[in-house]
Amino acid sequence: MPNDTLEIPRRTTTNTAESTPDASAMLTLDGVTKRYGAEAAVDDIDLTVRDGELLTLLGPSGCGKTTTLRMIAGLTMPTSGRVGVDDETVASDGDGVPPEQRDVGMVFQEFALFPHLTVAENVGFGLDDWDADERERRVADLLDLVGLSSFADRSPENLSGGQRQRVALARSLAPEPEVLLLDEPFANLDIRLRERMREEVRRIIKETNVTAVSVTHDQEEALSISDRVAVMNDGHIEQVGRPEAVFEHPKSRFVADFLGQASFLTGRLAENNIETGLGTLSADLLQGLTADYDGARIDVLVRPDDLRATPCDDDRRTGNGTLVGRQYTGPSFVYGVELDTGDVVHCEHNHSTEHELGERVTVDLVADHTLAWYPAE
Ligand code: ADP
Ligand code: MG
Repeated sequence: MPNDTLEIPRRTTTNTAESTPDASAMLTLDGVTKRYGAEAAVDDIDLTVRDGELLTLLGPSGCGKTTTLRMIAGLTMPTSGRVGVDDETVASDGDGVPPEQRDVGMVFQEFALFPHLTVAENVGFGLDDWDADERERRVADLLDLVGLSSFADRSPENLSGGQRQRVALARSLAPEPEVLLLDEPFANLDIRLRERMREEVRRIIKETNVTAVSVTHDQEEALSISDRVAVMNDGHIEQVGRPEAVFEHPKSRFVADFLGQASFLTGRLAENNIETGLGTLSADLLQGLTADYDGARIDVLVRPDDLRATPCDDDRRTGNGTLVGRQYTGPSFVYGVELDTGDVVHCEHNHSTEHELGERVTVDLVADHTLAWYPAE
């Protein structure tokens, strides 16, 4: 749920430049909205992407990510609002410059290579109006950049998925766009290849200094490749910031939940303490708490690595909860514990001791950082 009432003061590491004009801005969206009938696929988005930055739009399926990319590319016109690339307005209040007149390249999810052209011809495809020598040099440079120089004369049909993605990337970068857009660039690769290609795609983008906007529903991908992440929900941007800042200081329950396993401890603030299902905790643990909240009911965000569950002796009167779930992830177990207060929390254990469902446990907070919190709904 979006939370408009609570402004958590940010640490110095958090970006605060979203609403102020930015001299280094390469891409600007001002109040951009796209309606289909009565429905807003994208609803009044403001976003600034800096020159040379890699920003990822992260959100669940249907939240408006592709529509946003298409409005930047010129494939969809906004119903209202403005899109600016560098110093130029490319779309404003329903009207705009066509895609080919924008300095924007796009890598599609399915790569869309031309099967009847060689790898080199694919890469040089957008360079029709270049001088032949320059074109040849540019194609050679790009094939070198993506590590495919020895594949220049191959057909893309004989390439692996990762190699096809490199060709698609090289082709989009060849005309030297100011802005590169990538829509779910790893979705067509198998999981093991995805992780390798993330690093590779980031390297290539950074080497060219292009400003890039990528789109994904995969939080791990977004956190690992991006300079900043914009978390989208239902046509809105909920939070923009560096990956660490968004993960550690989620501004809403939605962001907290979308960026990793989240449980919430219900609590009541009393002076400098919080009464919770884990006992009395110090309110100093809470991020940016002000005196206004004394006496308030709140929900405290706890992630599995913030908690530890210790089994009790057979005496069923001890402990503060009961094991109700167990998930084996390979490197760790994640136990679900129903606290006696009714809250269900998750605890990660990286040893191989197996506990039984129904066992009594004591859950302790082991976090070495402050915790995000939200007024109770
Ligand atoms: P995402 O890429 O985040 O999955 P989309 O931008 O594709 O989301 O879609 C956002 C919303 O807009 C969805 O509800 C989708 O059904 C709707 N939508 C997208 N394109 C069209 C269209 N051409 N006509 C009608 N509705 C659309
Ligand atoms: Mg999409």
